[in-house]
Amino acid sequence: MKGVLDFSHQSRPVRVVFRSGAATNATPGEAAALGLRRLLVVCGSRGAATARAVADALGPACVGLHDGARMHVPVEAADRAVEAARAAGADGCVAVGGGSSIGLGKAVALRTGLSLMAVPSTYAGSEMTPVWGLTEHGVKRTGRDPVVLPRSVVYDPDLTLSLPVPLSVTSGINAIAHAVEALYAPDTSPLIDLIAEEGVRAMAGALPAVAADPESKEARGRALYGAWLCGSCLGATTMGLHHKLCHVLGGTFNLPHAETHTVVLPYTLAYNALAAPDASAAVARALDATDAPRALKALAERLGAPRTLAELGLKEADLAEAAAQTAGQAYANPRSVTAADALAVLRAAYEGGPPEFPAA
Ligand code: NAD
Repeated sequence: MKGVLDFSHQSRPVRVVFRSGAATNATPGEAAALGLRRLLVVCGSRGAATARAVADALGPACVGLHDGARMHVPVEAADRAVEAARAAGADGCVAVGGGSSIGLGKAVALRTGLSLMAVPSTYAGSEMTPVWGLTEHGVKRTGRDPVVLPRSVVYDPDLTLSLPVPLSVTSGINAIAHAVEALYAPDTSPLIDLIAEEGVRAMAGALPAVAADPESKEARGRALYGAWLCGSCLGATTMGLHHKLCHVLGGTFNLPHAETHTVVLPYTLAYNALAAPDASAAVARALDATDAPRALKALAERLGAPRTLAELGLKEADLAEAAAQTAGQAYANPRSVTAADALAVLRAAYEGGPPEFPAA
């Protein structure tokens, strides 16, 4: 760290339990400690068996299981979950699954004020943030509200054993993206810097081990530990160009969330690196490399991740519109971004060449 220290930091009141088997053996105790006795469990249809196990462990403290989570939380899905919570007389909600399930739990908390608990099964990190998202008429709105921050997060690496290797890799790099942007966020702090660098180190170290042996509880535990750290960075800071680009690509062009983050991250970091040399150096240290963007790209490619936005289905004709939408939004970024700059980053990610940009 260089220069004169100047920061604000707010700790958020999330309790975290991290242990193999915790989904079923810790969730009931966490609910009881919060005084919650009538919980609605929410999940996606593919995660219903895991959510059922959590519901069974809660016993009489579970008043229903609702498996209506959908990608990007359509308002209709939120309406149905809120209705299920009200009909069951729930006094709290437990979201079991990836970012889509936790997003649905957040929508319930936002609309009803009910306390939320989260049992994550991917590395997306939503469980550590007060950020909600809702999609209506194809437009995704997001906002911050402390009521959607889970009161208790139960990390159980066993839940991630079933996460397919390709999704593990891209979800893990999605997590790394949170830490990377936290390192150059305007509201970062020395504490977040430490968490971010360790988060990148933990996740980047774990992913090759997960890919080599997806059943390894040790590797899964290291990856989920990295996800916790990276998610904590996301919850504490304001994201920049990278998250804006991915939001546009996912929201308007329907590109898949984790894969898009994976393809774009080396390019956004390369674009920002000269304006954020300390952040870039921290990522390089965490990756044990000299060139952070190239090392990120090499890690993703070595683990078989998609390499280009073209592979993800983006049309070349969409690049200009995506660039215009990105440049048209207000967000914090260490380097200013014109529509031409955003187009250059997008085109590079579309083509998949080396991640490098000259200084402004
Ligand atoms: P997801 O929740 O949609 O899960 C992706 C797929 O993986 C789904 O088909 C799901 O059924 C499956 N899956 C999840 N866990 C599994 C497991 N353990 N084994 C097998 N399959 C499993 O996707 P995600 O990447 O976790 O989350 C992305 C969503 O979360 C996006 O909508 C994104 O905007 C949102 N998000 C929000 C925040 C926030 O702070 N609000 C943070 C990160 C992500």
